[in-house]
Amino acid sequence: MSKLRFRVVETAFKKKAAPVEIPSERPSEYFAKYVFNREKMFKYLPGKVYDKLVDVMDNGAPLDRSVADEVAMGMKRWAEELGVTHYTHWFQPLTEGTAEKHDAFLEHDGKGGMMEEFSGKLLVQQEPDASSFPNGGIRNTFEARGYSAWDPSSPVFVVDDTLCIPTVFIAYTGESLDYKAPLLRALRAVDKAATEVCRYFNPDVRKAVAYLGWEQEYFLVDEGLYAARPDLLLTGRTLLGHEAGKNQQLEDHYFGAIPERVAAFMKDLEIRALELGIPVKTRHNEVAPNQFELAPVYEECNLAVDHNMLLMSLMRRVARHHGFRVLLHEKPFKGVNGSGKHNNWSLGTDTGILLHSPGKTAKDNLRFITFVVNTLMAVYKHNGLLKASIMSATNAHRLGANEAPPAIISSFLGKQLSEVLDHLEENGTDDILTLCGKQGLKLDIPQIPELLIDNTDRNRTSPFAFTGNRFEFRAVGSEANCACAMIALNAAVAHQLSLFKTEVDALVETGEETMKAILTVLRRYIKECKPIRFDGNGYSDEWKEEAARRGLDCETSCPIIFDNYLKPETVAMFESTGVMTHKELKARNEVKWETYTKKIQIEARVLGDLAMNHIIPVATGYQSRLIDNVYKMKELFAEEKSARLTRENLKLIEEIGERVLFITEHVDAMVETRKVANKITDEREKAIVYHDHIAPMLEEIRYHVDKLELIVDNEKWTLPKYSELLFIR
Ligand code: ADP
Ligand code: MG
Repeated sequence: MSKLRFRVVETAFKKKAAPVEIPSERPSEYFAKYVFNREKMFKYLPGKVYDKLVDVMDNGAPLDRSVADEVAMGMKRWAEELGVTHYTHWFQPLTEGTAEKHDAFLEHDGKGGMMEEFSGKLLVQQEPDASSFPNGGIRNTFEARGYSAWDPSSPVFVVDDTLCIPTVFIAYTGESLDYKAPLLRALRAVDKAATEVCRYFNPDVRKAVAYLGWEQEYFLVDEGLYAARPDLLLTGRTLLGHEAGKNQQLEDHYFGAIPERVAAFMKDLEIRALELGIPVKTRHNEVAPNQFELAPVYEECNLAVDHNMLLMSLMRRVARHHGFRVLLHEKPFKGVNGSGKHNNWSLGTDTGILLHSPGKTAKDNLRFITFVVNTLMAVYKHNGLLKASIMSATNAHRLGANEAPPAIISSFLGKQLSEVLDHLEENGTDDILTLCGKQGLKLDIPQIPELLIDNTDRNRTSPFAFTGNRFEFRAVGSEANCACAMIALNAAVAHQLSLFKTEVDALVETGEETMKAILTVLRRYIKECKPIRFDGNGYSDEWKEEAARRGLDCETSCPIIFDNYLKPETVAMFESTGVMTHKELKARNEVKWETYTKKIQIEARVLGDLAMNHIIPVATGYQSRLIDNVYKMKELFAEEKSARLTRENLKLIEEIGERVLFITEHVDAMVETRKVANKITDEREKAIVYHDHIAPMLEEIRYHVDKLELIVDNEKWTLPKYSELLFIR
């Protein structure tokens, strides 16, 4: 083992769990300690200001300057008691992370000194000089003005000495430059559309809310080993490395006992997450070695997205306190399951979850079916877009690679719900009305109540599965901002619900009874969206053929999948819901293509470097030793004998030679291909070349590197191997 590798592996083995400071209070007591939530607002703001702010938060009422000033004063007072000296507008640019620029509370006091100051103006709006964030051409640098503006629906919080203010990030010309602005618009659209549809069933409904409960998967790697792997460090995944003799075959890691060092990390992370108001609840081992999952209780979608972003950055920090690095990449290790982020999504109103247990009355049941069917319609019509919304260079490794989820979006409903829909489809409207409503609204659709009792049938291969009171969008990547998927889903559902309402209203206009009109439209929808329903094995080849016959989007090339964002029906959907304009969509796609290219480009460079300055020197060094050995054997033994005894080494020498030649030639070819590709000015075209020509080269080169790893002397191999990366606690 090379000296460095030996040292890091040895140190990693010896590490003990780091101590965790456990608060003396109970979790419910330290929950949201660092969040300016309603409780603190009530305490630190004058009564009138509090009422005003609540109105802003709950009903989107405008926030006037004087109120903002008083809010800022109260916030500052609370924050200073926690030792806070700085504030930042915290936003989500079109990269994977969050961005922040910290400013001190300090201002001139007008008397030659300084004083602590924080005004409503600073709270509400800022102009960060953030011209280097990706914007897809919306901001040329000469007009590089972008504003961040406070989102009062997500509470401010404190990290270390800084007050963090969740904000949207928009261009001077009004276009969104981030994820939050369109998400808020999508949530507003779905609120409006769902509320209107709900009123068919209950005229008192005032508000509909989209909920999100994410499940975050991740890997932990010892930081010493991580540092000795430039590929992990620079790209977030291993670009080379042969599978270890043992990986996940025994499935002994899934739900297994959590190792002590990891348990300490989890405990620490959970305490800090709870203090920041993230309601974390579940933790367990995942399928792959060193893979884990964490899930909170679901929350309103915008807040849940912020909490996930915050959690990911918290994970990175806390992991380092425990001598780990957290890997959020979707596929850090070849041959081992990747990580995703299931997005559990549902709609609710001030009266309860809409996708939840149908009630006792036919009306409740019909409302439930209405929302399920409209969701299915939205997913059916926009299945290509939903796939695009979760697609990235990194998530592409997972999709369609025989681990959840396949690269075709379909929806699993389970036996009972499927039967209910089939029943509705097959029977005439009048029949159904008889079935569920002869005596007014008292009669039930008989199958539905059972549906919720038995929810055990699950299909792990389905990318969009109904799981009792919600849909679980499983295709989202572990590293992604959930907002991207949530913008597409909520906007598509909002759009669909308003189409539904238009159709129902048109029937009612002609004199049809409302419930009957609803059923008529739903029956048509059930037929129409049938192609999206699939309860079988999503990994099978038969499904790929079947899905193509059904007209579902089966494209597998990442840059081409992004085209879905610019299809006329997508643009119409986003524009009519007011979520994004054509210009914004075009700009975002530019960013997506550009990001795709850059990711592959970085990987290609890193792999090229590693191959040339780690792998080949080690391999040829070993080869020289073998050659030396062959010559010496020849001197020692007679010809026939030495020929026999050196046969295997000669084979190895040749194998190393061939592989080294292949690697060198392909690294060169990769450089040349890149040079040509980089001259392409159209971002889409460039991304396609990177996808079609450069990404496959990475795999070809890796194949030979991994074969060399198997034959070259372990003593000399410089990079920590899978067996070390994945099995050290
Ligand atoms: P599993 O792994 O069995 O799917 P988990 O308990 O790990 O379930 O995660 C389920 C997630 O779904 C949690 O975040 C949970 O709060 C969330 N969830 C439960 N009900 C709803 C709902 N109606 N809407 C949105 N999310 C929900
Ligand atoms: Mg789940």
